[in-house]
This record gives sequence, structure tokens and C-alpha cells, in this order.
Amino acid sequence: MFEKYDVIVVGAGHAGCEAAHAAATMGSKVLLATMNMNTIAQMSCNPAMGGVAKGQIVREIDALGGCSGIITDQTMIQFRMLNKSKGPAMWSPRAQSDRMRFAETWRLTLESNPNIDFWQEMISAIIVENHVVTGVRTSLGIDIKSQSVILTNGTFLNGLIHIGKKQFGGGRTGESAAFGITEQLVSLGFNAGRMKTGTPPRVDGRSLDYKKMQEQKGDVIPEKFSYLPDIQPLTNQKSCWITHTNDAVHAQLQLGFNESPMFNGRIKGLGPRYCPSIEDKINRFADRSQHQIFVEPEGWNTVEVYVNGFSSSLPEEIQHNALRLVTGFEKVKMFRPGYAIEYDFFSPYPTPPYLRNSAY
Ligand SMILES: Cc1cc2nc3c(=O)[nH]c(=O)nc-3n(C[C@H](O)[C@H](O)[C@H](O)COP(=O)(O)OP(=O)(O)OC[C@H]3O[C@@H](n4cnc5c(N)ncnc54)[C@H](O)[C@@H]3O)c2cc1C
Repeated sequence: MFEKYDVIVVGAGHAGCEAAHAAATMGSKVLLATMNMNTIAQMSCNPAMGGVAKGQIVREIDALGGCSGIITDQTMIQFRMLNKSKGPAMWSPRAQSDRMRFAETWRLTLESNPNIDFWQEMISAIIVENHVVTGVRTSLGIDIKSQSVILTNGTFLNGLIHIGKKQFGGGRTGESAAFGITEQLVSLGFNAGRMKTGTPPRVDGRSLDYKKMQEQKGDVIPEKFSYLPDIQPLTNQKSCWITHTNDAVHAQLQLGFNESPMFNGRIKGLGPRYCPSIEDKINRFADRSQHQIFVEPEGWNTVEVYVNGFSSSLPEEIQHNALRLVTGFEKVKMFRPGYAIEYDFFSPYPTPPYLRNSAY
């Protein structure tokens, strides 16, 4: 069924899409194997690219011939250069993208490359012969051969989603977790650990009262990510909106703290330092009576809105009740609750021999 590939890329998130594109553009015959072709280049959390540190990376990817910058430019709805009040070394390009157009544009870009084949299935193992990787095995038991394998599994390896006391397997909400690869890599001597991240609820923009919020327009002269001259900056932008939590919101959220997987020890993974949940912020900065919320549209036409700053793994009812106490959100309708996710990761540092085969 399959030819022997030069490269098999496992996973089609940002990393997998770039890897497949880079290898194929350099002439390799590539198979992009991913669990769900409808979620190629799906933005897991905020439909945004760039920001502090990450904006520089997107521009470096562009300089190296990658697509993230170009596709962001083609699908953005707002551009802002963050930290403009500081010196130029601190400036950080940040774009809000149209989530659906971003994923579609990535998929069409990959499909237009004749060197890329696609296969939709979970890869459950890599094939190793005489200490050399020779391909992958799928969950249906199909062996596909290749010279090299690139793993870009994102948050999917043994992914576990938390909402209050509820826990269920998943790589992202609505998508199955991936199994097999961690255990195999650990048996081969790699060191795995657990990380944790989280996302806020998404709400119906038609249920919000924007008159009570502060408008946040994009830059007057928007820039772009790609250095290519034929990519043009935006001429029309969509606004985001700013509102704040208050004491009543905090009191409502605190009602759920005893069911919070963050506080009762059910979440064991390490979280990123700069992405705290709203319950974490209330807990750590108890003296603050409000926290900023950025109300961000998810695209040009959709009514779905991302509630930036309100990441939470508290029970969905608590999230909803607390949101209704935020100025402008009094009649909010929730599309999806926020959640936290734990997943396996592999340390980028070399594994010292004495740690090989340590218990995962
Ligand atoms: C809830 C949540 C919140 C997040 N918040 C942020 C944030 O605020 N900022 C930030 O920078 N990042 C955030 N992230 C991390 C986000 O995952 C990364 O920014 C980025 O999407 C990672 O891209 P990726 O390509 O590495 O992986 P992902 O986007 O996770 O993509 C992984 C891909 O691999 C596929 N896959 C996985 N295992 C297999 C397998 N065995 N076989 C076949 N296919 C497989 C999946 O289907 C998916 O297509 C968040 C993630 C989640 C889930």
C-alpha cells in the first residue's frame, strides 16, 4: 500500500506541518501521518501567532523558508507590535488569526506539494531494527517504512483532560489522546515527563455587551511576519475588547477551588510559567481585586470568541457563573468550557546513562 518514504512526520500541528513542508520542499518524499486530517494545523488554544519570544521564532522560521509567517500574514485579523514602549529588543510581533482560515490555508499549502502524501491514523510505534529507526507502525497494524521519522505529537501523548473533578483521555478537547509512543521511547532509554497547560472557555460573541468594554484596535500601521515582498500587511482589522474580573467573579471562582484539579493534587504536570489559569492568578495574587481579560474574536465571520486571561479547569458551571459576573458578560452563552490538559513530553537535554530506563 505504501512506498518507502524518506521522511515520515507524525502529527500535523504547527511543528508537523513545518517539518513536512521543509522536508518536501528540499526534495524528500514525505508521509504526513496524523490522527485526524480535519484538524491539520488546528490552533489548540488561542488563534494567535507570535507574542513575546514566539514572534521572533515565527520570523526566524520565515527567514529559513517556512510557512508559519506567510500563513499567519494571509489569515490574520489583527496585528499588534507588543512592548512598543520598551526598547526595540523587547518588541514582539503578535497576530490574531482567523482560526478556520489558518488551518485551511496550511492544509491547502501542504496538499499543493506533490512530495507530501497523507495518512489519517494514530501511529502507535516506531519501528526500530538493529538500533536504527526504519519506519512506523499504525494502530491498524500497518508498517510503513522510511529513512527517518519525525515525532511532533504536541499535547497528545497519554493526554489527560481535567474539568473540575472530571478527567478523561484526550489530546485536545474533542480529540482522542495518542498511546504507545511514550512507553516505547521510554523502553528505548528516553526520559519522559509530564507537562500541563490550559485553555479558557469559548463564548458566543452575540451574547456579549461590547458597549461596556474597552475597544482594543490593531496597530495603525500593521506590520507582518514574513519578509517576502509579495505578502502584504492588513488593510482592514478586527478589534479585540478589554474587560476585567472583579471581587464577585473571584468569590464565585473560589467556590470551585475544592474541586480544582490544580489545587487538590490531581494535576501533577508542570505548567508554563507565563500562562497561569484564572484560579492560579486569584490564588497567587490574592491582594488584586481585578485581572484583565482580552475578548478576542476567533475569525472574520464566526461569532465564537476566545476569553484570553480566563484559562480555567474549574467545573464548567463555576466557569459559567463566574463569567456572568464579568462586565459585559452578564448574558454570556458558553460554547465550550475551559480545561487543563496533562501530557507526556521528552526532555530536550541528552539523557545521562544513569537515568536511562528510569521509571516513567
Ligand atoms: C488546552 C491547550 C492550551 C494551550 N495553550 C497554549 C498557549 O497558550 N500558548 C502556546 O504557545 N501553546 C499552547 N498550547 C500548546 C500548543 O499545543 C502549541 O502551541 C502548539 O499547538 C504545538 O504544536 P505542535 O505541532 O507541537 O502540536 P499540536 O498542535 O498538539 O499537534 C499535534 C498533532 O499530532 C497529532 N498526533 C499526536 N500523536 C499522534 C500519533 N501518535 N499518531 C498520529 N498523529 C498524532 C495530533 O493529531 C495533532 O495533529 C496549548 C495546548 C492546549 C491543548
